[in-house]
Amino acid sequence: MEGIESVEEVRAALRAWFDREARDLPWRRERSVYRTVVSEFMLQQTRVATVVPYFERWMERFPDWETLAAATEEEVLQLWQGLGYYARVRRLHSLARAVRDRGGEPASEAEWLELPGIGPYTAAAVASLAQGEPVAVVDGNVVRVLARLCGDRRHWKNSGAAVADYRAVADQFLDREHPGRHNEALMELGATVCLPGNPLCTVCPLVDHCRGAAEGDPGSIPRIGRAKTVERELYRAWAFRHGELLLAEGGSGEGRLEGLLELPTVDGLPRNWKVHPEPFAKRVRGIGRERITEWIVTVEPAKGRLCKGLRWVPLHELDEVALSGPHRRWIREILGMERG
Ligand code: SF4
Repeated sequence: MEGIESVEEVRAALRAWFDREARDLPWRRERSVYRTVVSEFMLQQTRVATVVPYFERWMERFPDWETLAAATEEEVLQLWQGLGYYARVRRLHSLARAVRDRGGEPASEAEWLELPGIGPYTAAAVASLAQGEPVAVVDGNVVRVLARLCGDRRHWKNSGAAVADYRAVADQFLDREHPGRHNEALMELGATVCLPGNPLCTVCPLVDHCRGAAEGDPGSIPRIGRAKTVERELYRAWAFRHGELLLAEGGSGEGRLEGLLELPTVDGLPRNWKVHPEPFAKRVRGIGRERITEWIVTVEPAKGRLCKGLRWVPLHELDEVALSGPHRRWIREILGMERG
């Protein structure tokens, strides 16, 4: 590794730190391939503290590949509800069916990569963490730690380019005798000490080996261009009659919401319904690179058939249907407002 004199010493310091400081997490307490895969899917773009209760509930309901493969989409969506990024749970569900259909788990990174829904990061993480294969895991955390260690102040146009560049470095740095511990330790250091804007160098086990820290301002490494935020606006309908609320099956091209219910967009309503133009609520949220402003307007339904994908849901059944997390929150807030 360029800029690092004693790679073996750095690996040993990292390992010793992880043996001492590793967080006690349910998927670490009892390790299996299945548990590792589920935790990796849940942890994508989601904080550890949020994932823990979901993981525990999931393991009670779907303790292995077989039970997950046999479950319906409705069941898996319901248990995932609130964790967001629903494309993940669909991929996990398809993966369970693929594992069942091939008669067992893949045994190597290359075999994992042949299955649906598994990318290079997850394949390497599962193969090394749960199966002991000496392959390096590279994600944003790993790039950050390694680039700072090497004092690498190059500029990348996006994080994908930085990850691609750092595969060879991570491979060189990999501890081939303890690949799982090493990968996990590196990711843990990135998540808890070598933080994005504010690295905690004074408590870092690698500070004596870190070129970025020695040269100053390690927080500015790595230099990665930011993707532009895309602004979007949507008008959502609040249509309510006889204790029932109008909901729509999400989707309309957004795979992450397919199968979940949400407040319908005004565009998807029958044309003869009266839409009050003044929104009575506004919600803003970010999804990936998008910043979406959602205006909620009152709509008066008229007689006639509903368009495809729309349905009336009694309020007392709202807890039983698979509803998108933010929409469930908004509906509760709005109902609270109305009662108040
Ligand atoms: S010393 Fe600081 S910059 Fe270097 S790896 Fe540790 S936390 Fe990151």
